[in-house]
Amino acid sequence: MTLHTLKAMFDPATRVDHAIQAAHAFQPALNAMVSFIDPQDQLEALTHIDPSAPFYGIPVALKDLVNMKDTRTTGSSKILDNYISPYDATITRKLREAGAIIIGKASCDTFGMGGTNKTAATGPVHNPYDLSRMSGGSSGGSAALVAAGVVPMAIGTDTGDSIRKPAAFTGIVGLKPTYGRISRYGVIPYASSLDHVGCFTRNVTDAAATLKVLAGRDDKDMTSSTLPVEDYPALLKGDLKGKRIGILTNVIDSISNPTVRTQFEALVEQLSAQGALVTRVTLNDALMKALLPTYYIIANAEATANHANLDSLRFGVQVPGADNEETMRLSRTAGFGPLLRKRFVIGSYALFVENQERLFRKAQRVRRLVVEDLKAALSQLDVIIAPASGGVAPLLEGGPKTDELSGEYLIAENYMVMGNFSGYPSITIPMGFENGLPLGINLTAKAFDDANLLDIAYGIETLTGLKNLVAKVNA
Ligand code: GLN
Repeated sequence: MTLHTLKAMFDPATRVDHAIQAAHAFQPALNAMVSFIDPQDQLEALTHIDPSAPFYGIPVALKDLVNMKDTRTTGSSKILDNYISPYDATITRKLREAGAIIIGKASCDTFGMGGTNKTAATGPVHNPYDLSRMSGGSSGGSAALVAAGVVPMAIGTDTGDSIRKPAAFTGIVGLKPTYGRISRYGVIPYASSLDHVGCFTRNVTDAAATLKVLAGRDDKDMTSSTLPVEDYPALLKGDLKGKRIGILTNVIDSISNPTVRTQFEALVEQLSAQGALVTRVTLNDALMKALLPTYYIIANAEATANHANLDSLRFGVQVPGADNEETMRLSRTAGFGPLLRKRFVIGSYALFVENQERLFRKAQRVRRLVVEDLKAALSQLDVIIAPASGGVAPLLEGGPKTDELSGEYLIAENYMVMGNFSGYPSITIPMGFENGLPLGINLTAKAFDDANLLDIAYGIETLTGLKNLVAKVNA
């Protein structure tokens, strides 16, 4: 169901009521929500909104990193368990102005750090297609809600692949637009040079409609772009003829799963048959293998700095000590789980004066080389494409152990961080299924070529017919 058909079906109060009931009904199975929001005030405010507004009376969910005045925003952490937002994020304001009714906050890995949603203070989110599997992370709750049909759109954030990976694992569309396209004011940061706001939807048209609502310059976010916002939905033509599509060989060559390879190659054939100009592009393999370690150094260093304000002195859950110093230490020790503590140690270590040159600055130089390599490849292309993951969503517990130094893990499972290094727009859409579990394909385009990216994704979606998928949850 698209935003459009949903709007034609029920009145706002009924639509919102259905969504809230579904979210409650699925909560024991999916564990996707952290907090519910009473929609009454928002429904009443609709009297001031034009009924033709794109989200008029449409229920949506926010990742639990997005502030909304007078609601609980915990970042799926323990330390902000009691935090009530004193203001709206810019995207929250824009959604409200477009008529959206925000029904709650969706679970994520704590402060967006992780790829499993297992670090959320409220526990893991389950995949709507198979409850023993993860829905990915960090925006796992948002993805699960959209895939289960609870809401047609949920906000996510993406610092490494946190929208695009969960979208693949749950059979939906996940859009991370160009860095600077959507304001991040009021969104709890992870790593500021890599953080993006984006969305999950069940089709490309809704992603385009959402981007049109959210995009634009915001003086409260100095990284937001002044470039004009385009009419993304109107620009969807879906004609693949003449589109220059580069297959990222490093990724496809590193994947061992034959189903993923076969389905991907079959899609590539179809693209050529549609008149797309398909070529193979190979990036520097050593740089591809360096993506993840480089990401960890930059992301954790920035996270360490960003989260230094979580001292529990002014806000947050406090464990009182003899003085401020001790209160801070006790509160932070109690408030962060093992993964965050590890990441703060890595981040601080990389920022030590004696390590800065050999770790932090080196990582920034590697990042620059990666972006130059990607930019050169894209100068001849409209998009580069590859499977979004080497396989289906992993089991939450007891899956095969991953070799984290293998080319498959370093490249196929982590290459999408290139989109964060570069800030280039990147989208995941469904590619197919393996044993009833979704597989995704990822497309990345040049900076601010979001409209073209969406158009090509729309063309592929039309070709595969894989849209508006709704998981049957065994609740
Ligand atoms: N998996 C990555 C991490 O653990 C991505 C997180 C993200 O994009 N927020 O940091």
